Amino acid sequence: MLFHSTRGNDNNKTFEEILMQGLADDGGLFMPDSWPQVDIDHLKGLNNFIDVAKYIVPMYTNSSFSTDEVHEVLDNTWHDFEEKDYINIVDINESLSVLELFHGPTAAFKDFGLQLAAAFFNKTLQDQNKTAIVFGATSGDTGSAAIDACKEFSAIKSFILIPDGNMSDIQRKQMTTVNKPNVFPILASGSFDDCQDVVKKGFKDRSFLKDGQYLLAINSINWVRIIGQICYYFYAALKTNRFSEPLNFSVPTGNFGNVFSCYAASKMGMPLSKIVVAVNSNDILDRFFQHNDYSKNKVSETISPSMDISVASNFERLIYDFYLNRDSELCSNLYSKFPVESISLDEDIWKKSSSLFMSFSVDDNSTFKCMKNYFDNLGYIMDPHTAVGADAVSKLNDRLENKTVILSTAHPAKFPNALEKAGINLTTIPKNLKKVLDKKEISFKLSPFDNSIFEFIQQNS
Ligand SMILES: *Cc1c(COP(=O)(O)O)cnc(C)c1O
Repeated sequence: MLFHSTRGNDNNKTFEEILMQGLADDGGLFMPDSWPQVDIDHLKGLNNFIDVAKYIVPMYTNSSFSTDEVHEVLDNTWHDFEEKDYINIVDINESLSVLELFHGPTAAFKDFGLQLAAAFFNKTLQDQNKTAIVFGATSGDTGSAAIDACKEFSAIKSFILIPDGNMSDIQRKQMTTVNKPNVFPILASGSFDDCQDVVKKGFKDRSFLKDGQYLLAINSINWVRIIGQICYYFYAALKTNRFSEPLNFSVPTGNFGNVFSCYAASKMGMPLSKIVVAVNSNDILDRFFQHNDYSKNKVSETISPSMDISVASNFERLIYDFYLNRDSELCSNLYSKFPVESISLDEDIWKKSSSLFMSFSVDDNSTFKCMKNYFDNLGYIMDPHTAVGADAVSKLNDRLENKTVILSTAHPAKFPNALEKAGINLTTIPKNLKKVLDKKEISFKLSPFDNSIFEFIQQNS
């Protein structure tokens, strides 16, 4: 299986190449040349998450690694989960359940994608006898998951920019208390966008790297993260009804990576009814699905900060595959003008949306209400991101057939302020989170407005 860019000018790449490259040279996103197809009967015979991953992952990695090599990697990939089955499914009623994806070491679903990324980064670096810098900015969960996933690999040094903003204390402490010689949490006095600008500049410039050193991105456009997420959709569907009926999945989303993974699983053969695209008041995706208007607005801060985005990077993959039938020229045309010109598809093409997608934008007020409702009526505590997915389902319920699964993307203990405001008292907190509370914080304060971050990396790489 080889990969190509959604914009048509970076093609025939192996898995290892796109893993280490991240974004395509032409600015597009990598896609597999075709959708590998699963044998549902074979999947029905599997009974744990790792075995499902051992079936799915090699379909995308066979251009670079043998199946045996991949199985060996997967035996050591996902670690420090507090749930031995990795996921947990909580039934709310006959037709509704919550898929908890937050039992990993950083208590957010990003552990699934980033631990797989780190495992393959490390394998590649060992095979090639090279080192790498992981460089990224985080609004909360990405940074901690990336740091945790890479911290045991001495060939990888992580430099993560932490902006001023509404990240919770726990989220910050998850990054600043790791205290490993290859981990550098940088408190950058600026906004998330300022930090993103520094990262972009770094990926253009690269002069601060050593000879032959890789610069690795951790944002959600790396295909390897999508692969890790595809695995839990198949496993969740297996556990829910053994693929006997198509399910709906409600996905609280920002950059569309998690939604696209669901779409990818369905293209590979997972029975799927509808995907509910649930967003907070940063509603570019909802405006597209409701009104065919994909236009960039300013970011507003919400109580679900990991979904505070102005554009949804992975959405380009859906435009390319689902709407444009993989016409890279059309895709390139649309995106070369975006965001100056907003994206609006031909009405006939856009209408296809309703065959698979529904969307809803949930504001902070409704998010609080939903958290409180679930707590008061069911004793179930959810985090604000999950509540966006749950509230969207309750608003769209009349139009949903079949069983619905709400993806729970973070443990509520990561967002104590939101819980307090919703009047919810959380009594248990995961061991992995508790650990960081009293540890000493070590971080580096640098400005995103001059060269100091690059000088710092050079000195410490
Ligand atoms: C990153 C994140 C999201 C958004 O995921 P996307 O793949 O960008 O849609 C949702 N919830 C939580 C808790 C996250 O950390």
